[in-house]
Amino acid sequence: MATEKWVTIRKEWCNLIEQDVDLMELRVYPAEMLPEGQDFQVKARKCSVDVTCNMAGFPCKWAYTNPELDPFVERARERGDVS
Ligand code: SF4
Repeated sequence: MATEKWVTIRKEWCNLIEQDVDLMELRVYPAEMLPEGQDFQVKARKCSVDVTCNMAGFPCKWAYTNPELDPFVERARERGDVS
């Protein structure tokens, strides 16, 4: 039987709420081996405070309020890490 587990993949500073947050992914570990040596598949991703930001109406992909705005991509662009 497959098992599912939320795992923090990294911590990031979010400029919109001005605090550190956890970016997480829901990993599915199948009972059988996956092809090409994979241990798990990623079923979903979320931010640790997505519900709070959603309720507050922050425009953000991670809060499910604006699929076009990812504050971490925006920050990477500001740093020149992403074109
Ligand atoms: S849901 Fe979006 S706005 Fe809220 S902390 Fe996470 S990344 Fe920042």
